[in-house]
Amino acid sequence: MSQDKLVYLDYAATTPVDSEVVRVMEPYWQDTFGNAESIHKHGQEAMKAIDDAREIIKNFLGASALREIIFTGSATEANNIAIQGTVSRFAFQNGKKVHIITSAIEHSSVLKPFQYMEAKGLADVSYIQPDSNGVIDPQKIKEALRPNTVLVSIGYANNEIGTIQDIPTIGEIIRDDRESRIKNPAVAPASPRLRRASKALAGKQESENKKSGIHNSKFMIPYFHTDAVQATQFLEMDVNKLNADLVTFSAHKVYGPKGVGVLYIRDGVGIEPLMHGGKQEYGIRPGTLNVSLIVGCARAIELAFEKRQENTKKIFELRNYAIQRIQQVAPYAQINGSLEQRTPNNINVCFRGEDGQSLLIGLSEKGVCVSLGTACAARAGQASHVIQALGKTKEDARASIRISLGKHTEKKDIDFFIDALHPLLHNRK
Ligand code: PLP
Repeated sequence: MSQDKLVYLDYAATTPVDSEVVRVMEPYWQDTFGNAESIHKHGQEAMKAIDDAREIIKNFLGASALREIIFTGSATEANNIAIQGTVSRFAFQNGKKVHIITSAIEHSSVLKPFQYMEAKGLADVSYIQPDSNGVIDPQKIKEALRPNTVLVSIGYANNEIGTIQDIPTIGEIIRDDRESRIKNPAVAPASPRLRRASKALAGKQESENKKSGIHNSKFMIPYFHTDAVQATQFLEMDVNKLNADLVTFSAHKVYGPKGVGVLYIRDGVGIEPLMHGGKQEYGIRPGTLNVSLIVGCARAIELAFEKRQENTKKIFELRNYAIQRIQQVAPYAQINGSLEQRTPNNINVCFRGEDGQSLLIGLSEKGVCVSLGTACAARAGQASHVIQALGKTKEDARASIRISLGKHTEKKDIDFFIDALHPLLHNRK
């Protein structure tokens, strides 16, 4: 086996930037380098590029106004702004903590801000457990809602096991809850200030709706946030079909550049900025805009959208071939999480009795790049919280690896991976 060949099967961690994306970014480093806030020609050119990029993202998400699209430095940052920004807006109204809901299988950029808000004494948190397939029952979210719930954040597709959550139904449950709070003040937030803030938002949203004629739902807390980083290139992203109020994604997972993310904030959703110091991004994310990365992000999204069906079909078929080949060499191997409700690129497999980290290193030495769920977990040698939440043991979690395919993956890459994996398994056919 040649040591020179490198097979990359870690597309859920990051993707190579498309040449077309690199091409459109190029002029904004040296030629059109202006500060988008400047009013001279260089600044105007930069602002035009930002406006065009924002328009592309707005259309991709089916958003109704440009101001609903906020460019950030990453999805991690976007998640933090959505979560901490909501809590700080509503926390300690009337001296009471707020309540927020998430799931036990979120990416750390969602889980950690929730834990932080909890540790700071700003919020009580409900962590919803998935079933053994990694699927969250929307009914459990309904049951967890409280009169003072201000935010529900559920990831669209899981980064470790690829399981897809029923975001439209969860969004509908939250919308119904909001409407029942408006109709029935008895179940409205316990704090009068919170109630007033919610009603004010509802009123504002209603008048916005009338103006735009686009939305017809009344607006109020709780807000519904979804981290759509792993879903962006494969699944429906229309925010109105998803019934979502806050949505995050990242360019580098869709063949765009690293260092740029997007936060969609539905009109009428009020959150506190985490940073202060400038007017950029409607004051939600101040700081001089990185025009090149933003332009690249928008082009990557356009390309992903154009080729969505074609790429999904190709990757799905190759993924199924890979699972079949894994089962040939290791019939005892178990796929973690639902196979049906899953992104087409993800395989997360438990080789019971093996050490995932050793497999990872062994594969890497043979030129194959895979992961232990997340790139960060692989470094820390931790047992995945996601796989343990499926009811599996720490040992099984440690015996699992994530293989994620992308649009450049070919059948021969899968065969190369299997040839590298087979001799590394202690229990093999
Ligand atoms: N959310 C999910 C589901 C992810 O998979 C990732 C990256 O792995 C992130 C958030 C963080 O994205 P970024 O690297 O842009 O901060």
